[in-house]
Amino acid sequence: MTGILAFDIFMCVTVFIFGTVIGSFLNVVIYRTPLHMSIVTGPSHCTSCGTRIKPYDLIPIVSWCLLGGKCRACKAKISIRYTIVEALTGVMFLLAYLRFSASVMLPMSIILFGVLIVLSFIDLDHMQIPYWCTATVAALGVINVLLIALSPSPAPDDLWWKHLLYALLVAVVAGVLALFGGLGGGDFQLITAAALLLGVRIFPALFIGIILGAIYGIAIKLRTKDTVKAKTEAMTVLFVKRTEQHPDDNIIMGEYEEGKCRLTCYDVEGKKLNEVGPDPELVQTLTEMFSDIPANNEYIFRVVTKSGSIDSLKLQRRIAFGPALSIGIAASMLYGFEMLNFWLGMFS
Ligand SMILES: [Zn+2]
Repeated sequence: MTGILAFDIFMCVTVFIFGTVIGSFLNVVIYRTPLHMSIVTGPSHCTSCGTRIKPYDLIPIVSWCLLGGKCRACKAKISIRYTIVEALTGVMFLLAYLRFSASVMLPMSIILFGVLIVLSFIDLDHMQIPYWCTATVAALGVINVLLIALSPSPAPDDLWWKHLLYALLVAVVAGVLALFGGLGGGDFQLITAAALLLGVRIFPALFIGIILGAIYGIAIKLRTKDTVKAKTEAMTVLFVKRTEQHPDDNIIMGEYEEGKCRLTCYDVEGKKLNEVGPDPELVQTLTEMFSDIPANNEYIFRVVTKSGSIDSLKLQRRIAFGPALSIGIAASMLYGFEMLNFWLGMFS
């Protein structure tokens, strides 16, 4: 008995350490691929002083703790995020091992969790999900559908054609949301690919994703409330001034998004007259004004002015939905059927 227990513990520790090493590599992927840098060539450097990091300072989690979160050469702070990614990857690989042991679902879920971690952090940093990430999830979905189709005794609630059916259903609903601007293109791809992989388990995944996404959205809103209020007031002043300088424009609608500014003219009936186009002076002022807003908060302001008074002011704030969706997908990959059974049990 003790021999088996010792072996179990040894396997769990090995899988966790393997996960942290892969997590260390995922950090490189998260940082470099959006910048189109190679992930294989070029050793790791300190992003502050450029010193090449010694191999003994690259041990996942351990090195960061021993160095007290600082670069050995220049003492610049190293973000705890690298350590979080390493630990998270270790934990997710361990959960996959505990759930699936040595079955074909183990490599499938390990690849899935690695991709989900990468796309979540890239989405937080850059507000987009790379195409290769969603394509990998879709490829895992195709492999799973083939595995079920070739299986001599598939589970009745997990037949291969049901995966195609749910993927189609989810693609139509998510596609409509994406077309009307409620959902990002990357989110749409991720949801559809995950539906192909998870089949009926996509529903608990979406349930968790939507709840967490809403909580995250509210948290961001509360945290940036004062900043947004101050920016909005300053923008109002700017747009009113712009309207006073150009009284002929009558009604101006201004939009500001990521360093781009558009001004459009409308008549009193709301008919579009002409694009005023970018006003260089206004663009520069706005860009300076928004320079302190972190990249992961994207703001779109719409200001409509009529003869110098603000008619309406709308603020859209996009939040990264990828991380919330990923947590739901990962949870459902591990315990989707259990969650569904629990759910159905409540209604019977
Ligand atoms: Zn340094």
